[in-house]
Amino acid sequence: MRKAIIAGNWKMNKTPKEATELVNALKPLVKDAVCDVVVCVPAVDIANAVEAAAGSNIKVGAQNVHFMESGAYTGELSAAMLKEAGAEYVIIGHSERRQYFGETDFTVNKRVLAAVKAGLKVIVCVGEKKEERVDGYTDALVSYQTLIALTGLTPDEVKDVIIAYEPVWAIGTGLVATDEQANETIGVIRKAIEGKYGKDVADTVRIQYGGSMKPANVKGLMAQPEIDGGLIGGASLKADEFALVVNYDK
Ligand code: PEP
Repeated sequence: MRKAIIAGNWKMNKTPKEATELVNALKPLVKDAVCDVVVCVPAVDIANAVEAAAGSNIKVGAQNVHFMESGAYTGELSAAMLKEAGAEYVIIGHSERRQYFGETDFTVNKRVLAAVKAGLKVIVCVGEKKEERVDGYTDALVSYQTLIALTGLTPDEVKDVIIAYEPVWAIGTGLVATDEQANETIGVIRKAIEGKYGKDVADTVRIQYGGSMKPANVKGLMAQPEIDGGLIGGASLKADEFALVVNYDK
């Protein structure tokens, strides 16, 4: 039985002061959550979010990590830096990073290896663009993205990875995959993991859905057997809205 995990992706929103306010507002609303609750915040907000979340069930994550340990990489942040700042999770390979910042499956893999080595829990994003779904490439693409991202991890390390299946056409668009589409594609990802790492690993890995998930559609998505949680963008920016997603079972 996999424990669900609902993570907010604040993207480039909220100052440190606003992060404190949002986490403080969220704490009482999600205290009885049956799932793991994570907020992935801008790096400069990590310290404030961690301080505000202390003693609660809210965990804090970052939104990207560099793959080198240190050195002349102006503007970048290492996994050790994020960890010491208090992040427990990190999103890797979000489609916005792939689209705007040149992220590739190869660099996603490098970041995953660096983050896992430093003891961060990773949320790896995979997903197809609209035209790739229309052309029938979704299954091959998400399988390939997933297996490349995980290359070099041990089976035990793979068990701890969280995959976020995020159809690119559903992110921030209001378009949402149907419950069945999301369930089916997540099933494909799980089969790909099974093919390489075995059934035990595949049955353990948690796979989220992401893409315009919100209070109105969370129940249907979470009722699907393959869906182990959500990565939530827009609906994670208001405490009451995010809490309704987190409390999908109530
Ligand atoms: C995301 O940022 O990962 C995401 C799914 O965004 P939204 O919920 O706004 O579509």
